[in-house]
Amino acid sequence: MERYDRQMRVATIGKAGQEKLLTKTILIVGVGAIGSYAAEICTRMGFGKLILVDRDYVELSNLGRQSLYTEQDALEKQAKAYAACKALRLINSEIEINYIVDDANMETLTPLASKIDYVLDCTDNFSTREVLNQFAFKYQLPWIFTSCAGNYANIMPIVPPDSACLHCLLGVIPQTNAASCDVIGVDGALIPIVAGMQVSLLTQMILKPDFTANTYYQLDNWQFTFRSLQVNKRPHCNGCSPEKITEKPFSKRAVSLCGRDTVQFQLATKSNYPEVKHRLTAEQIAYKENPALLSFNYHQYQFVIFKNGRVLLHGTENLLEAKKIYQQFFN
Ligand SMILES: [Zn+2]
Repeated sequence: MERYDRQMRVATIGKAGQEKLLTKTILIVGVGAIGSYAAEICTRMGFGKLILVDRDYVELSNLGRQSLYTEQDALEKQAKAYAACKALRLINSEIEINYIVDDANMETLTPLASKIDYVLDCTDNFSTREVLNQFAFKYQLPWIFTSCAGNYANIMPIVPPDSACLHCLLGVIPQTNAASCDVIGVDGALIPIVAGMQVSLLTQMILKPDFTANTYYQLDNWQFTFRSLQVNKRPHCNGCSPEKITEKPFSKRAVSLCGRDTVQFQLATKSNYPEVKHRLTAEQIAYKENPALLSFNYHQYQFVIFKNGRVLLHGTENLLEAKKIYQQFFN
């Protein structure tokens, strides 16, 4: 507990508050820009358990705005969840940190529902936030939505079943970055501010007996403006009215990853991974491997194959072209 001394001296936290933080399990979905900083803050502040979920690996273009990662991680294409976990365990060995290298969807998140207390949305896309909204509502898990683009950030704490949900919010704010891709720039200095605010809200959710949600915050780190807006739960909302919710089945179909010149799909079974390795060796195709994935060049494309069977094909956004290349290699 001594390591948290300065934090326990803060009246709003105190020793009892710190002890409480140490009992909580936080699921951090996405450890890119906001998620890497949020995970680092949670680790240093001493939240008891963290579970990191991320489907990507580290690239050089991430380092300008993402904490925890090194040029070496980018060179080795280390999975972000793995690299983040490794870095965080060196910062605080007294808390438990686990990681999952996978897509966040109902299939991957459901087994975690009974193990976690809070969720931080640190994703970069609205389709995963849709999943989080549904997941959090179904299992009544409090969560905090964040998004960033340019010099703007959006933040909203959501406490199901009674508070306004993401859909209730999107009904009142313009969806300026609904199609958010990597191609939309973001100011690197904005990220730690947002992550700090997200973890502040998380701390309040845990420690403040009269914490109320239903407030949306917007921040501009260039004009230095901060706005907050009351958001009410909407009657018959598609995201938080039980009669309106239809669970979307998990899709293993190929999807084009917006703005990344990449298509993602899934191998038929996890056990295909060793077969792919065997095949590469037999055909003398050079590949690089790390604890989470292997990668190799194929014609002008690059394949990245994760151990759980997820495949990224870089070099095209065209689903038909990707399908052709995939079948050429795998059949
Ligand atoms: Zn709603």
